[in-house]
Amino acid sequence: MNIMAETITVSDVIEHLFCPRFTYFQYCLNIAQMEEKRFKVRIGRELHEKKEKTNTRYLRKKLGVVLKNSEAYLSSDKYKVRGVVDEVLQLNDGTYAPLDYKFAEFKKSTYRTYKYQSVIYGLLIKENYNADVKKGFICYIRSNNLVKEINFTKRDFDYAIRLIDEILSIVQKGFYPKATSHKMRCIDCCYRRICLG
Ligand code: SF4
Repeated sequence: MNIMAETITVSDVIEHLFCPRFTYFQYCLNIAQMEEKRFKVRIGRELHEKKEKTNTRYLRKKLGVVLKNSEAYLSSDKYKVRGVVDEVLQLNDGTYAPLDYKFAEFKKSTYRTYKYQSVIYGLLIKENYNADVKKGFICYIRSNNLVKEINFTKRDFDYAIRLIDEILSIVQKGFYPKATSHKMRCIDCCYRRICLG
């Protein structure tokens, strides 16, 4: 994280959602995660070469897409976050929406990390395109490109903004955050030897 720039990345938010102490170890103590142990926090890098397989014409029709902007780097001084959105879609009702590809199967519901990643992309699109953003889409490549829609509420946007503030606060003030309540996540965590439980 470039603290000087006072923005965080969308990936930082996802890792923080997984466990707030990741933020502390990485950015207050400067202890990077070991790449081979980046357990369960996948930021989707393995799927980039898979995206071409998606039937874009089908998606365009099904979702009512008017315009598409791929691999859009967006940054927000207002929300203090930045990231690359797989696709920014303009829909036929005039609103915009992020579409994110996951090299994953859809299992019953959308993961919280996926949801808030999409919500933050929504915030970035709102500011950069000066557009209304009401929903986002996730394409699950391993479920035959199943596309799931997530409707965004004001509460979702407010929570995402609070998360970003919380991360910046840990980075700037250096306080030790609470551990994840999901203790199973600690089993394979690369920080388990230094984490105080
Ligand atoms: S050991 Fe558990 S609480 Fe500590 S950083 Fe890892 S996941 Fe979080």
